[in-house]
Amino acid sequence: MLALRLYGKEDLRLEDADVPRLEGAGAILRVRATSICATDIKAYTTGARTKIPVTLGHEFAGEIIEASEEHQKYVSKRVIVNPNIFCGRCEYCIMGEHVLCPNRYAIGIDVDGSFAEYVVIPDRAFRVGGVYEIPAHLSYEEASLVEPLSACFRGQRKLMIGPGDVVAIIGAGPIGLMHLKLAKAFGAAKVIMSEIDERRLEIAAKLGADHVINSAKEDIEKRVMEITSGKGADAVIVAVGAGSAQKDALKIVARGGRINFFAGLPAGKEEVPVNTNIIHYKQIILLGTSMQTPYEFKRTLDLVAAGIVDVKPLITHMFGLKNGLEAFSTALKGEGLKVIIKP
Ligand SMILES: [Zn+2]
Ligand SMILES: [Zn+2]
Repeated sequence: MLALRLYGKEDLRLEDADVPRLEGAGAILRVRATSICATDIKAYTTGARTKIPVTLGHEFAGEIIEASEEHQKYVSKRVIVNPNIFCGRCEYCIMGEHVLCPNRYAIGIDVDGSFAEYVVIPDRAFRVGGVYEIPAHLSYEEASLVEPLSACFRGQRKLMIGPGDVVAIIGAGPIGLMHLKLAKAFGAAKVIMSEIDERRLEIAAKLGADHVINSAKEDIEKRVMEITSGKGADAVIVAVGAGSAQKDALKIVARGGRINFFAGLPAGKEEVPVNTNIIHYKQIILLGTSMQTPYEFKRTLDLVAAGIVDVKPLITHMFGLKNGLEAFSTALKGEGLKVIIKP
């Protein structure tokens, strides 16, 4: 089968790999749609992976073609799978905070992923509630976006986004735009988006952002204060991996507001000098989130299936797996939004 495999820093190869065989109690999934994520791009630019070579890809949807005795009922079903495989037994898993599981590993990161015709679904994925059938009216492409969207869902849930909130989102890439759609679904009264790429700001406005700010040309603090009559945003989501954006978040948040550092910073750039007195005197809640629990994954699928969050406008490119390298370079250039590979 064809697979896009990472051999090291900027060394991605499209090659003929062995079709995985069913071993133990898991299943084999025929990949029908898989989306390229910033995490895949980061793996490519840094080469930092526990397993090398590794087939990348963790946002996917497909069909179970073979399963162990126990999971027979899934055979020939269209499914999505949470790529984060949790133990289900540790203290964090028991309390429902699976994302903190010390025994976690991820498909497409620690083991071979979905930029291939077939991918192994471990037994644990089924046991911990990580496998869900896709409703017939949803396409594989849409379903493949439940994974990144569910990470955003977690981010907003933890940030307690609710009816009437003024939400500011810094960064209007695919993740920022997913946050925009979710914030609206959660009842935000106003969503303000800032970004330095004019094309992305246009898309944000088209997708429902109430105010867009080009932070390369405008003073973000001044603009947010104008929009909010001097109060600031109730909640701020930093959806870009830049220390300057984290500092901006502290400036534009309202007193008693909440901030989520949703995007991680690049290696070597994690140290950011900030005025921590802002946290103290504005009495804000500052948190970070990543990944998603089985519950959040399922709830997000329900939101997409119900048509409350439409992910279709986020899909700008589709490629066959034989053009996988081209797909990757398209995603790398950041020209479109979500680039999907259809093996
Ligand atoms: Zn991802
Ligand atoms: Zn666990």
